[in-house]
Amino acid sequence: MYAPADTTLTWQTLRSLNPGPRLIVTGAVHGVETCGTQAIRRLQAEIADGQHPLQRGQLTLLPVCNPLAFRMGRREGEGDLNRKIRLHDSPANFEEHVANALCPLLLAHEVLLDLHSFQSPGQPFVVIGPAAPFIKSHEEVEFAKHLGVNHFVEGVPILTTLPVPPEGGASTAIFMRANGRYGVTLECGQHADPAAPKVAYRAILNALAYFRMLAAPVPAPVSKPVSVRYGRKIVRRGEADRFSRAWQSFDAVKAGELIGTFGGGEELRADNDACLLFPDPLAKPGTEWVYFADAGTRFQLPS
Ligand SMILES: [Zn+2]
Repeated sequence: MYAPADTTLTWQTLRSLNPGPRLIVTGAVHGVETCGTQAIRRLQAEIADGQHPLQRGQLTLLPVCNPLAFRMGRREGEGDLNRKIRLHDSPANFEEHVANALCPLLLAHEVLLDLHSFQSPGQPFVVIGPAAPFIKSHEEVEFAKHLGVNHFVEGVPILTTLPVPPEGGASTAIFMRANGRYGVTLECGQHADPAAPKVAYRAILNALAYFRMLAAPVPAPVSKPVSVRYGRKIVRRGEADRFSRAWQSFDAVKAGELIGTFGGGEELRADNDACLLFPDPLAKPGTEWVYFADAGTRFQLPS
């Protein structure tokens, strides 16, 4: 059963009387990914203390998008919220109810900064939209370059995921792009990395400064951006599947290199020179184990 606090979303909206961008910052779409929650709550405490007066526009801070998963300390409550973002006529589980609450809130904003973390150690990166054009593609990349993180992953094309994606909804960022807005997913670091909340906090302040919503200097764009593009997705088949070593996102691999071995003995090898994304040695069987990524079209391949 749900605890009383599970079924309430709590957000804070600051609205300047001066017109400007409408930015929403979200944390804990996945309940175990708390760096964004920590960063948002830190900022909320500072705002309550009179710091960071809003110069223009609208800022919404939503520290916990999935209260059920957050309380349980799990990625998901009853499903992956980041595959559920659309309006559900007959919500069938907890995350579909959350999606119904989130959609109008997201649509009340022009830009989304969605803060996540990941399972294996590695450096932070920003997931940006695909190179195939969507309305605000240019604005999104410019925004993403100012968050203080210089690794980028190009997302899957919108047209392959909407209007009826196989798993019942989109990610928060894809939902924004599909509705004439834009947004990025910032993967701030490993779940327990003490640096991850700092990456998240810096990104929020950078975003606010970038939009001139704070009286702070506009941050410089990252100087050496590198980007990769999603390639082949590998699903973990069973608990006996093992990686050949402790892979990290953006690890470069050579064609033919052994990545892991499935429980039945079949080997997983790289088709071509590429790099790896989201390796998760603890992935639930039937879910994403690792992705191969190719050189991105926006910047350059990491060397
Ligand atoms: Zn996540």
